[in-house]
Amino acid sequence: MLKGKVAVITGSTSGIGLGIARALAGAGADVVINGFGDAAEMEALRAGLADACGVGVAYSGADLSTPAGVQALIDGAEAAFGKVDVLVNNAGIQHVSPVEDFPPERWDAVIAVNLSAVFHGTRLVLSGMKERGWGRIINVASAHGLVASRDKSAYVAAKHGVVGLTKVVGLETAGTGITCNAICPGWVLTPLVQKQVDALAAAKGLSEAEAAAELLSAKQPSGAFVTPDQLGALAVFLCSDAAAQMTGTALPMDGGWTAQ
Ligand code: NAD
Repeated sequence: MLKGKVAVITGSTSGIGLGIARALAGAGADVVINGFGDAAEMEALRAGLADACGVGVAYSGADLSTPAGVQALIDGAEAAFGKVDVLVNNAGIQHVSPVEDFPPERWDAVIAVNLSAVFHGTRLVLSGMKERGWGRIINVASAHGLVASRDKSAYVAAKHGVVGLTKVVGLETAGTGITCNAICPGWVLTPLVQKQVDALAAAKGLSEAEAAAELLSAKQPSGAFVTPDQLGALAVFLCSDAAAQMTGTALPMDGGWTAQ
């Protein structure tokens, strides 16, 4: 379905981004994966994905916390494959603390990676998408783009910002063959959430399984984690012709979290 298309997935060396990269490559797109990791492991990941899916795969270690880093990622993708048809803005970080203790430098870092990088990536790919009359921008927001939790001020502010930016880009590109949508996952057991499970286990003297169950029961009525594969399938759908008239939306996949 995506043969001949080029997809850039930010923060795709682990977790949700990797699930989405696998799904888009599985649908036939050439992909650029991005994120941090050991050089040999990154090369193994790149080559493994290329072999498994029979598509072109490039890796970029660009740090998306600065505009120059985002520019390097998009320039690298265009140098490798000539264009960017699908941009998945997924890279994200977390910091948990009450507002009055929240370190200002952590606030700046969360806003830079989770929100500003989405703006920079989007502004850099839009003119090429408009020239070709087709494009898909998929922003991985969060249930925290729709509702709040305590102690996550920067993350919740950034994700609500991503949902707002998604609406603006959806309006600005309406009728051009480009769509821009946000995916809002609930809890997904990735390294980002594993840290929160570990912290809860340590704080309350729980086993890992007990801590995971407690985390889920507080927010996610289904009592089960969403998986990167499920989110990957949603991203493939958003790239399909069936989704051509969906734009500016924020789509929860959250086990009922935001229905409450
Ligand atoms: P993760 O920690 O498993 O992966 C994050 C990825 O981003 C990694 O590839 C990492 O190397 C990369 N990254 C981090 N900082 C970067 C930077 N400055 N430049 C480039 N790459 C960088 O996290 P995840 O849980 O898969 O989260 C992915 C996205 O999904 C994030 O935006 C997160 O907010 C969102 N999300 C996660 C959950 C969840 O429950 N895990 C729920 C809702 C939304």
